[in-house]
Amino acid sequence: MNEAPNAENPVLTGFSRDELSSLLAPLLPPYKARQVFAWIARGAGSFEEMSSLGKRERQELTRRFSLRCTRETARLADRDGTVKLRLALRDGAEIEAVLLSGGPGRGTACLSTQAGCPLGCVFCKTGALGFLRNLGAAEMVEQLLRLREAGEGREPDRIVIMGMGEPLLNLEELRRALAVIMDGEGLGISRRRITVSTSGLVRGIRELADRGPLPRLALSLTSAREELRKGLMPGAEPLAQVKEALARYQEQSGQRLTLEAVLLGGINTGAEEAAAFGRFARGLDTVVNLIPWNPVEGLSFRGRALREPSAGEIQSFVRLLEGEGLKVTRRFRRGRGVGGACGQLGSLP
Ligand code: SF4
Repeated sequence: MNEAPNAENPVLTGFSRDELSSLLAPLLPPYKARQVFAWIARGAGSFEEMSSLGKRERQELTRRFSLRCTRETARLADRDGTVKLRLALRDGAEIEAVLLSGGPGRGTACLSTQAGCPLGCVFCKTGALGFLRNLGAAEMVEQLLRLREAGEGREPDRIVIMGMGEPLLNLEELRRALAVIMDGEGLGISRRRITVSTSGLVRGIRELADRGPLPRLALSLTSAREELRKGLMPGAEPLAQVKEALARYQEQSGQRLTLEAVLLGGINTGAEEAAAFGRFARGLDTVVNLIPWNPVEGLSFRGRALREPSAGEIQSFVRLLEGEGLKVTRRFRRGRGVGGACGQLGSLP
């Protein structure tokens, strides 16, 4: 049984191996603190499970620390294998995390970095919620641990930081969480299997480029026309500066960048848009990932209800982008049945 998150004790899931060693130094020698780190990564829900520790050590850890700071309040499973979890945090805020099927025995974990989001993209349910607060590293790592438990044997071997929130607004805690997730003695997921998706915050991209780690980076571009983009994504920053920051990131990481576009019927699927994408991508090594908008009731743009793009609109936009010399992929619509698809996360009444 996992511990309930009601205790106010410090939660150990968000500490790196070194941090844990220092924190536990009064109680445990370093090699035992490393064992605790490994037990946490294996998903231990109580200190009693840590059989390599002595009885008194386990009792003392139980008295002073916790291993969980979230509580599962809902679990929804889609026919396509997607599982969405709703988790209550200690202060009552709720977040969501999603496990997408990734072939036999595997899965992709989509994690949240904020409760709500302050950026207010018009096509996004999370944006409509407003902003509650940043998540701590433990709250991020724990989403992964809980998704693994919920996945019933499916091991999340890819991480996408594309859930609720703008990750680069919470970069320090994200960095701490990634240190835990990437550690070879812990969860051991390499940075090349982790994608951080951002709306394009210039300062954050620069900082990530300069200070690392260097996960794969995806820019939620959606429109490469400045004015339209600003309308759809009010928190968007100037495209020229975003492009400059991306070029720096590419130089440092040596990785191909993903340009994501949420396709909105009748809004951003025309020839002018494709040409703007072509101009924006010039000089960068990119792949465009198209995400046909997943319906969320009540969302509108300039007084008109948003609609899904038709199959024809999607096909023609793919051809237009390819005509611009761009490499294009299309995201499958997974998780729609549980409101766990892209842009659908959030607990609106
Ligand atoms: S799309 Fe991302 S950045 Fe925009 S409101 Fe939603 S969660 Fe925030």
